[in-house]
Amino acid sequence: MGVPESMVVRVTDETEPFWRGLKQRKIVMQRCDDCGYVRHPARWLCPECLSEAWKWDEMSGRGTVETFVWFMSHLDPVPPGIVHRPPYSVAVVHLQEGVRLYANVVGIDPGGLAIGDAVNAVFDDISDEWAVLRFELTGPA
Ligand SMILES: [Zn+2]
Repeated sequence: MGVPESMVVRVTDETEPFWRGLKQRKIVMQRCDDCGYVRHPARWLCPECLSEAWKWDEMSGRGTVETFVWFMSHLDPVPPGIVHRPPYSVAVVHLQEGVRLYANVVGIDPGGLAIGDAVNAVFDDISDEWAVLRFELTGPA
Protein backbone atom coordinates (compact mmCIF):
# COMPACT_ATOMS: atom_id res chain seq x y z
CA MET A 1 0.00 0.00 0.00
CA GLY A 2 1.34 3.36 -0.92
CA VAL A 3 0.38 6.02 1.54
CA PRO A 4 0.22 9.45 -0.05
CA GLU A 5 2.24 12.23 1.43
CA SER A 6 -0.45 14.82 1.27
CA MET A 7 -2.44 17.05 3.53
CA VAL A 8 -5.52 15.95 1.60
CA VAL A 9 -5.25 12.19 2.24
CA ARG A 10 -3.86 10.93 5.55
CA VAL A 11 -4.40 7.19 5.72
CA THR A 12 -4.09 5.27 8.98
CA ASP A 13 -5.08 1.71 9.86
CA GLU A 14 -8.23 3.15 11.42
CA THR A 15 -9.22 5.36 8.46
CA GLU A 16 -8.09 3.17 5.56
CA PRO A 17 -11.57 1.63 4.86
CA PHE A 18 -12.97 5.17 4.47
CA TRP A 19 -10.28 6.09 1.94
CA ARG A 20 -10.53 2.76 0.09
CA GLY A 21 -14.29 3.30 -0.13
CA LEU A 22 -13.85 6.65 -1.86
CA LYS A 23 -11.84 5.03 -4.64
CA GLN A 24 -14.75 2.59 -5.08
CA ARG A 25 -17.22 5.52 -5.23
CA LYS A 26 -18.64 4.78 -1.80
CA ILE A 27 -18.71 6.72 1.46
CA VAL A 28 -18.28 4.25 4.29
CA MET A 29 -18.35 5.43 7.89
CA GLN A 30 -18.51 3.73 11.25
CA ARG A 31 -21.99 3.14 12.68
CA CYS A 32 -22.25 2.25 16.36
CA ASP A 33 -23.80 -1.20 16.91
CA ASP A 34 -25.33 -0.09 20.19
CA CYS A 35 -26.83 3.36 19.55
CA GLY A 36 -26.64 3.71 15.74
CA TYR A 37 -24.57 6.91 15.84
CA VAL A 38 -22.51 7.47 12.68
CA ARG A 39 -19.10 8.96 13.32
CA HIS A 40 -16.36 10.51 11.22
CA PRO A 41 -13.41 10.44 11.22
CA ALA A 42 -13.01 6.82 12.23
CA ARG A 43 -12.18 6.05 15.84
CA TRP A 44 -12.39 3.06 18.14
CA LEU A 45 -15.02 4.41 20.52
CA CYS A 46 -18.54 5.81 20.05
CA PRO A 47 -18.55 9.45 21.27
CA GLU A 48 -22.27 9.16 22.11
CA CYS A 49 -22.47 5.96 24.18
CA LEU A 50 -18.81 4.87 24.56
CA SER A 51 -19.51 1.52 22.91
CA GLU A 52 -16.61 -0.17 21.17
CA ALA A 53 -18.94 -2.18 18.88
CA TRP A 54 -19.38 -0.81 15.37
CA LYS A 55 -19.42 -1.69 11.70
CA TRP A 56 -18.68 0.10 8.44
CA ASP A 57 -21.85 1.34 6.79
CA GLU A 58 -22.40 2.98 3.40
CA MET A 59 -23.72 6.54 3.41
CA SER A 60 -26.17 7.99 0.89
CA GLY A 61 -23.84 10.74 -0.29
CA ARG A 62 -26.65 13.28 0.02
CA GLY A 63 -26.53 16.23 2.35
CA THR A 64 -26.97 19.94 2.83
CA VAL A 65 -24.55 22.86 3.14
CA GLU A 66 -24.49 24.18 6.71
CA THR A 67 -21.90 26.87 6.14
CA PHE A 68 -19.03 27.61 3.79
CA VAL A 69 -16.16 29.91 2.90
CA TRP A 70 -14.55 30.82 -0.39
CA PHE A 71 -10.78 30.91 -0.70
CA MET A 72 -10.02 33.69 -3.15
CA SER A 73 -6.24 33.25 -3.04
CA HIS A 74 -3.84 30.49 -2.08
CA LEU A 75 -2.46 30.10 1.38
CA ASP A 76 1.15 31.22 1.39
CA PRO A 77 3.05 28.95 1.24
CA VAL A 78 0.75 26.47 -0.49
CA PRO A 79 0.55 23.35 1.71
CA PRO A 80 1.54 20.07 0.03
CA GLY A 81 -1.38 18.26 -1.52
CA ILE A 82 -3.49 21.36 -2.10
CA VAL A 83 -4.42 21.10 -5.73
CA HIS A 84 -7.21 23.62 -6.09
CA ARG A 85 -6.70 26.87 -7.83
CA PRO A 86 -8.58 29.71 -6.19
CA PRO A 87 -11.33 30.59 -6.01
CA TYR A 88 -12.60 27.40 -4.34
CA SER A 89 -15.12 26.67 -1.62
CA VAL A 90 -14.81 24.74 1.62
CA ALA A 91 -18.16 23.83 3.15
CA VAL A 92 -19.48 22.06 6.20
CA VAL A 93 -21.75 19.42 4.68
CA HIS A 94 -24.36 17.74 6.88
CA LEU A 95 -24.98 14.27 5.51
CA GLN A 96 -28.47 12.80 5.75
CA GLU A 97 -27.05 10.22 8.15
CA GLY A 98 -26.14 13.00 10.59
CA VAL A 99 -22.39 13.33 10.05
CA ARG A 100 -20.87 16.75 9.40
CA LEU A 101 -17.66 17.02 7.40
CA TYR A 102 -15.55 19.57 5.61
CA ALA A 103 -15.43 19.29 1.84
CA ASN A 104 -15.16 21.31 -1.33
CA VAL A 105 -18.33 22.02 -3.27
CA VAL A 106 -17.25 21.96 -6.90
CA GLY A 107 -18.68 23.09 -10.22
CA ILE A 108 -19.79 26.52 -9.03
CA ASP A 109 -18.45 30.05 -8.93
CA PRO A 110 -18.32 32.35 -5.90
CA GLY A 111 -21.85 33.50 -5.25
CA GLY A 112 -23.24 30.19 -6.45
CA LEU A 113 -23.47 28.56 -3.04
CA ALA A 114 -25.94 29.15 -0.22
CA ILE A 115 -26.54 27.76 3.25
CA GLY A 116 -29.13 25.01 2.98
CA ASP A 117 -28.23 24.00 -0.58
CA ALA A 118 -28.66 20.30 -1.31
CA VAL A 119 -25.46 18.55 -2.38
CA ASN A 120 -24.45 15.13 -3.57
CA ALA A 121 -21.11 13.37 -3.26
CA VAL A 122 -18.61 13.26 -6.10
CA PHE A 123 -15.42 11.27 -6.01
CA ASP A 124 -12.30 12.91 -7.33
CA ASP A 125 -9.33 10.67 -8.15
CA ILE A 126 -6.06 12.21 -7.06
CA SER A 127 -3.92 9.18 -7.97
CA ASP A 128 -4.27 5.59 -9.18
CA GLU A 129 -4.85 4.55 -5.58
CA TRP A 130 -6.65 7.39 -3.84
CA ALA A 131 -9.69 9.58 -4.30
CA VAL A 132 -11.10 12.42 -2.26
CA LEU A 133 -14.68 13.27 -1.40
CA ARG A 134 -16.19 16.44 -2.76
CA PHE A 135 -19.76 17.57 -3.37
CA GLU A 136 -21.77 19.18 -6.14
CA LEU A 137 -25.03 21.06 -5.99
CA THR A 138 -28.22 19.16 -6.64
CA GLY A 139 -30.52 22.13 -6.14
CA PRO A 140 -31.75 24.65 -3.60
CA ALA A 141 -32.96 23.39 -0.25
ZN1 LIG B 1 -23.01 4.50 20.34
